[in-house]
Amino acid sequence: MNVKPVLTLDERINDIRMRTAEIVNAEILPNEARLWPNRVSAEPTDLERKEAHELREHVKARVRAAGLWAPHLPMEYGGMGLDFLAHAYMNEVLAYATGAAALFGVVAPNSGNQKILVKYGTEEQKRRWLLPLVEGTMESGFSMTEPHNPGSDPRSLDTTAVREGDQWVVNGHKWFTSNGLRADFFVVMCRVQDDSGEEGRSGQMAQIIVPTDTPGVRIVRGIGIWGRPSSDHCEVVYEDVRVPLDNILGRVGDGHQAAQDRLGAGRVYHCMNAVGQMWRAFDLMVERAATRHVHGGLLQDKQFVQGFIADSYQDIQAARLMTIHAAERIDQNDLAARTDISAIKVFVPAAYERVVDRAIQVWGAAGVSNDLPLATMYQAARTLRLADGPDEVHKVLIAKQVLHNYARGEGWDFGN
Ligand SMILES: Cc1cc2nc3c(=O)[nH]c(=O)nc-3n(C[C@H](O)[C@H](O)[C@H](O)COP(=O)(O)OP(=O)(O)OC[C@H]3O[C@@H](n4cnc5c(N)ncnc54)[C@H](O)[C@@H]3O)c2cc1C
Repeated sequence: MNVKPVLTLDERINDIRMRTAEIVNAEILPNEARLWPNRVSAEPTDLERKEAHELREHVKARVRAAGLWAPHLPMEYGGMGLDFLAHAYMNEVLAYATGAAALFGVVAPNSGNQKILVKYGTEEQKRRWLLPLVEGTMESGFSMTEPHNPGSDPRSLDTTAVREGDQWVVNGHKWFTSNGLRADFFVVMCRVQDDSGEEGRSGQMAQIIVPTDTPGVRIVRGIGIWGRPSSDHCEVVYEDVRVPLDNILGRVGDGHQAAQDRLGAGRVYHCMNAVGQMWRAFDLMVERAATRHVHGGLLQDKQFVQGFIADSYQDIQAARLMTIHAAERIDQNDLAARTDISAIKVFVPAAYERVVDRAIQVWGAAGVSNDLPLATMYQAARTLRLADGPDEVHKVLIAKQVLHNYARGEGWDFGN
């Protein structure tokens, strides 16, 4: 990966990017097949698995020693304590290698749950759930989407948590709870009924921590996706699941805000990840175009392929600059960031999909093989267009905010 200091960035962010790139280039890219043998082989041998584990631990140790561990967490919880923008800039570099984030201590959905616990957790919740997540001795999931209700309209969710004495009794049906097979606990989005009103207004949403070994939690299946027979995105039934009152995160009514906190910031990180992945796909495409002879000449000399390169260049530049702009606005606590977050949530995954699609085309059959990361990227890009709020929902939000400004007689100021 060709990363040099960015002239407009301060020294600290450039230093983080350069040191991240050093590890990506030296430790991860040359070893991708050995680090993740299950990507290239359906049945890695025990020796390959052992070697992969040792290699991953070696890279993690180097990341920790370089002070690049857990960029999303405050220092007091073992993270880098990065501000938003620095984290976004770091993400585009570490995402260049598919799956590298895990080697830097960022593993979804644990990372999102960690952030929610940092913000909403009590000291006891942090001790019990956050610290083990950070240390890697526990796993977690985020359980919000339901099969019978539209995930794009979270107000429709009907999983309930009813207060009975000093317990919440949770009943509901969720699906696509990622990491469900390995999780020790789920953060479950529930509509709360608590007539006492002590925890907040009854009927509102809250997120409640549910250990997965609580009686009544049933993992129905790991849902098969993209032609594979199963995955760790789980269908989960909660049947009279009883957990202590203390397991609520924040107060009743905080549920939507906590989900927004998680998703809003997450969208910028996802987009910077997508930029890193596009960068990789672009490099792969250009490298192949420069070496593959077809019909009497190199691919790079064919105008179709030059068009792919030029279009991809524009997609990446536009996606990257829009995402950095959104991150800058969030850093300045600018309310208008909401429009930019929606804009990147629509634009970047679509640009990512286009860039990867062209790279696959240039590589021919190899493009869809597991020898290259392009097929995985393609599926990730397509999935991003509907996860964390589908395209249409974000387009509606953009239009509403623009129309609101015009209705107030202000128009839209693209300069601010
Ligand atoms: C791989 C993967 C991992 C996931 N991980 C998790 C997880 O860990 N936890 C979790 O809780 N959820 C998870 N999800 C679920 C994801 O967040 C939802 O799929 C998403 O919010 C969309 O909800 P839905 O699937 O119910 O689609 P629906 O809400 O039914 O929407 C279907 C389609 O309707 C259209 N649509 C929606 N609203 C409008 C509108 N206003 N105007 C026009 N068209 C519209 C869109 O095209 C949308 O794609 C995951 C999903 C995937 C694919």
